[in-house]
Amino acid sequence: MAYRSINPFNGKTLHSFEETTDAGLETALATAQAAYELWRHKSYAERAKIIGRAAELLHAQSDAFAHTMTLEMGKRISEARGEVDFSARILAYYAKNAERFLAPVKLHPTRGEAHMESSPIGVIFAVEPWNFPYYQLARVAGPHLMAGNVMVIKHASNVPQCALAFEKLFVEAGAPAGLYTNLFISHAQTDKLIADPRIKGVALTGSVEAGRIIAAGAGKAVKISSMELGGADAFIVLDDADLEHTIKWAVWGRMYNAGQTCCASKRFIVVESMADKFLAAFKEALGALHAGDPLDEATTLGPLSSEGALVTLLAQVKTAVKHGATIAMGGKRIDRPGSFMEPTILTHVTKDNPAFRDEFFGPVAMFFRVKDEDEAIAIANDSDFGLGGSVFTQDMARGQRVASRVETGMMFINNIDWTDPELPFGGIKDSGYGRELGDMGIQEFVNKKLVRFAVLEAPV
Ligand code: NAP
Repeated sequence: MAYRSINPFNGKTLHSFEETTDAGLETALATAQAAYELWRHKSYAERAKIIGRAAELLHAQSDAFAHTMTLEMGKRISEARGEVDFSARILAYYAKNAERFLAPVKLHPTRGEAHMESSPIGVIFAVEPWNFPYYQLARVAGPHLMAGNVMVIKHASNVPQCALAFEKLFVEAGAPAGLYTNLFISHAQTDKLIADPRIKGVALTGSVEAGRIIAAGAGKAVKISSMELGGADAFIVLDDADLEHTIKWAVWGRMYNAGQTCCASKRFIVVESMADKFLAAFKEALGALHAGDPLDEATTLGPLSSEGALVTLLAQVKTAVKHGATIAMGGKRIDRPGSFMEPTILTHVTKDNPAFRDEFFGPVAMFFRVKDEDEAIAIANDSDFGLGGSVFTQDMARGQRVASRVETGMMFINNIDWTDPELPFGGIKDSGYGRELGDMGIQEFVNKKLVRFAVLEAPV
C-alpha cells in the first residue's frame, strides 16, 4: 500500500511517501502513550488552549489547507474552503463545550447519593477516509483530545499531504509530542495496532468492507469501537413538494463533493404525480453542470477522487444496466483528461438488481417512481444502509411523520443531510454504530464511572 498524492484532475503524481516502519510505529505508539500520561491530567482549560489554537490556525490558513485538498483529491475549491472552515468550527466547538459535556452527572437512587463521572481511556486509533480529508479528522480529534485521550491516525493512502498538514496543525498549536500522530501504515500494521494493548478504542469512517474487518479486530481485542460507514440515503419527494426548491436540493444532495459523500442523496423516490416533472427538471439541472479544473471557481463539476474510483463507478453502472436498469442520462466517463464522470440517472432499478442495494459513490442517482407516501417509505427502508435521508413536502406534520417512519440515524425535512458541530451524526444497520459530533460524539471513548456514597451501615 503506497501513500501517494495524485491529482485526479490530470493524473499527475504530486508526491509519494515512505510507509511507517514497524520500528517507527512502535516509537509512535510509545510516544503517544507517554503523551497520554501527561495529557489526561491537564485541565479542560489547558486542553482548550491547544485545541482552540488549532481551530484558529486552521481558520486563518483556510486557503492553503483547501488548496492542498483540491490538488490531492479533486474537491472543488469553494467546497474545500467550506470544509476547512467547518473543521475549524468543530475543533472550536469542543474546545468550548467539552467540560460541560463531560461534567459529573448527578443520579437519583432511592437511597443516598451517587453520580457518574467521565474520564479519558487512553490512546484512540482512528482510520479515516479521503472524501473529507480534514473534516473527518476534526470529527475525531476535537472531541477525543478534549476528553483527555490522545490520537493515532491512519488516513486514506491517497490523501497523505492532507494527513501531514493536519498533524502539523497540532504541532503549531503547541501540542506535546505524541498528542496527535499521523501514521502511514499498511492494512496489516493496522490489524497489529488494533490488537496492541496500548490502544483503548478504535474509530473507523469508511466502507462497510473495512468496517467488518476493523470492527472484528476491535471485537476480538474487546475494545470499544465506533463505525461510520456507507449510506444509500433516500430523497423522498411527496406530491405537495415545492418542485423548484426540491430540485435545487436534489442537485446539491447528489453532486456535492462530486457525489462522494456517505450521506449524499443516492435514491430519489418520487410519488407518481410529481415523477415526470421531477425527472425532467432534475435532468435539465444536472445537464447544466460543466466539468473543469476544481481550482477554478467557475467549475461546477469536479473530478472523482481517483482513476480507481471512476473505474469502480463505471463498472457498477454497467452491472446495473446488465440487470435491467435504464440510463436516463449520462453513464460514461467524460472525454477529457482526469477522472471525470457524467452526471448519471438510472431508472427501472428493480429489487433483484444488485444496484438496488448498492452504494454509488459518485454522481450516479437512482430514480424510483412510487404510488404514494407509504410505498416511498417502504422503498426507503428496503436498504441494507441506514445513515440519513430527506423528505420534501410543504406539510411539516407530514414531513415529521415520514421522518419518524424512515429507519435511519438522521432525517431531514425539506433539506438534504446537513451536519453541524452541535448535531450528532451516524447511522444504523450497515451504516455502522456510534455517533460523532454534538454532545454524543464526545461520550464515545470515555469511561463512565459510577461513584456512590455509602448509605448503609457496614456489615458486622
Ligand atoms: P475505505 O476503502 O473503507 O477506506 C477508508 C479508510 O479505511 C482508509 O484509510 C483505508 O486505507 C482504510 N482501510 C480500508 N480497508 C482497510 C483494511 N482492510 N484494513 C485497514 N484499513 C483499511 O473507504 P473509501 O471507499 O475510501 O471511502 C468511502 C466510504 O466511506 C464510503 O462507503 C462512504 O460512504 C464511507 N464514509 C462514511 C462516512 C460516515 O460518516 N458514515 C463518512 C465518509 C465516508 P487505505 O486508503 O490505505 O486503503
